[in-house]
Amino acid sequence: MIGPRIVPRKGNLTFKQAILTLIIALLISTLAGSVELISHAANMRQEVQLRTTQQLAIVNGAAAEAAFQLNPDLAHQIASGLFNDEVAKVVIRDDFGRSLAEFTTDQETNSTWLSQRLFSNVLHHQTDLEYYMGSDLPDAVVGDIELTLAEGYLTQQFLERIYSVVGISILEAFILSVVVVTFFHRFITRPLLKVHAAIIDTDPTQPGKWPKPHLRGHQNDELGHLVDSLDHLLNAFQQGLEQRDQLHHLSNMDGLTGVANRRQFDEFYKQRWHIAQQTRQPLSVIFIDIDNFKEFNDHYGHAMGDETLRAVAKILNQCIEPSRDLLARYGGEEFVCVLPGRDLDEAINIANCLREAVLSLAIPHAYSSTHSDLTVSMGVASMAADQLISADTLIKRADQHLYQAKHLGRNQVATHKRPA
Ligand code: GH3
Ligand code: MG
Ligand code: MG
Repeated sequence: MIGPRIVPRKGNLTFKQAILTLIIALLISTLAGSVELISHAANMRQEVQLRTTQQLAIVNGAAAEAAFQLNPDLAHQIASGLFNDEVAKVVIRDDFGRSLAEFTTDQETNSTWLSQRLFSNVLHHQTDLEYYMGSDLPDAVVGDIELTLAEGYLTQQFLERIYSVVGISILEAFILSVVVVTFFHRFITRPLLKVHAAIIDTDPTQPGKWPKPHLRGHQNDELGHLVDSLDHLLNAFQQGLEQRDQLHHLSNMDGLTGVANRRQFDEFYKQRWHIAQQTRQPLSVIFIDIDNFKEFNDHYGHAMGDETLRAVAKILNQCIEPSRDLLARYGGEEFVCVLPGRDLDEAINIANCLREAVLSLAIPHAYSSTHSDLTVSMGVASMAADQLISADTLIKRADQHLYQAKHLGRNQVATHKRPA
């Protein structure tokens, strides 16, 4: 029996994959971004330190000249050259500590935890101003220059870099996710959906004829192997079903004559009797028995008897409608015919037809009590529409009529109504 058809549910494998990939990509980007920022912070500190030291070294000579000459204009010029956005304060002093030039930024310094951690120990620089006194004298310290870097400016530069690194990382994560998900969908989800659809389209009664999907590019990978395994399994299933049908057919078939056996008759008759009762349809039964078959066997041999049984079964079977009626070997040289939906008159006609068909075989039977050829006798019983006769009673009646046919001289059809 075919079960209810499975309706494929919309899967969300691609969506799950997208979320997972995005999370992984963001984690990796965050990690890579953090490493980049840590190294950038270290580089920036080094660069600032080096640049400031170099600038101070460059201006040292000129500033020492200004301090030696106590020349505020020159000191002012030098300090002004050093003062830029990156610098919060520049002071040039003489050796008495008096300021010759001083520049201080108006902007407030918002010291934060981050700016402290990053730049607190590279902000302040103070260098002595050494004046050249001649080749035979040591340099004289004539003052000092003090330079303080703008903490806020440096932090802002650093944060701008952070924003661009984080932004690029997030963008990279998105692009990576889209690429991975597209590939995943194209190479895994879509082929899997194809396999799923093929399984759903498979007729459970004919699993071997499933629409085996051809997954291009997957012949030698796990998906290709999955399809091959499924194909193998479904074909094995098909074989099993065919064997089952064959066994079922064999168990219902008479081995000698090839017509239905007693077991199939019992099942078929019971089922049709119930249908006839429910639908108020007529049902007829014909019992058929070969006349003087013992003598036939005794004189022509058992092998000939078997051959004759086969020939009789074959011709009887040709006279009925196999899609509707059933001819079965009831046992020995007796056959039974079940005629669903046929009333007594139709059954009598069929019985006569069967009787004549056997006669037409013209199998010589020199020891028959009734005819020179092999003959059959029949008993017909019918249950008319709206009539209530038990299944057993109907069989019994057909059997009684058969006995009656024998009694009346064989080679005839007997029923409770004399045939016309
Ligand atoms: P009647 O006309 O009264 O039916 O006489 P009959 O001889 O046909 O009936 P009886 O019941 O006395 O004999 C039936 C015979 O059918 C006995 C047996 O030799 C024969 N027979 C039953 N089954 C087989 C079979 O499978 N093969 C062969 N060759 N003969 C069988
Ligand atoms: Mg007989
Ligand atoms: Mg008999």
